[in-house]
Amino acid sequence: MLIRLNKFLSSDQISLKINENFVIDDEIFLSKTHLHKDIIFNGDIFKVDESVLLNGTIKYTFRAECARCLTPFDNVVETKFEANLVQQLDENDESDEIQLKISEGCVDLEEIIKQMIYLSMPMKSVCKKDCKGICPNCGVNLNLEECKCEDNLADPRFDKLKDLLKD
Ligand SMILES: [Zn+2]
Ligand SMILES: [Zn+2]
Repeated sequence: MLIRLNKFLSSDQISLKINENFVIDDEIFLSKTHLHKDIIFNGDIFKVDESVLLNGTIKYTFRAECARCLTPFDNVVETKFEANLVQQLDENDESDEIQLKISEGCVDLEEIIKQMIYLSMPMKSVCKKDCKGICPNCGVNLNLEECKCEDNLADPRFDKLKDLLKD
């Protein structure tokens, strides 16, 4: 996941747009996170005074289980980060700024992208906003079927009525 910056750095250009499709080939990471290996990276790199700044957006997909209906689905997530691209890492830097080293005119985004994916993965997600979930009484997936539980449980007065009708 190398971004080449030599040309940009030695030019008069102030900013550079990046749109890349990356493939993550770290099998352990992929299986731990249920991540699809293809991700999309969009970024802007700016020269500001002496610094070079990166604004990046990562779009990734992972296999999640719906917190309401428990059905597996593909969850698409976008996460953003900012980083300082530096020639020399400042070990004493105590700010929260992310520093990425430019080496031989390139910056490698693999580690930071994996970290950002890991940090941004939602613990709970739902397959769709209006997911109806599972009936707590009979266990059917209410997105796929309707059950009669709600009718029967909804109004206790009907139970009395039923009792009356029995006789
Ligand atoms: Zn669901
Ligand atoms: Zn039910």
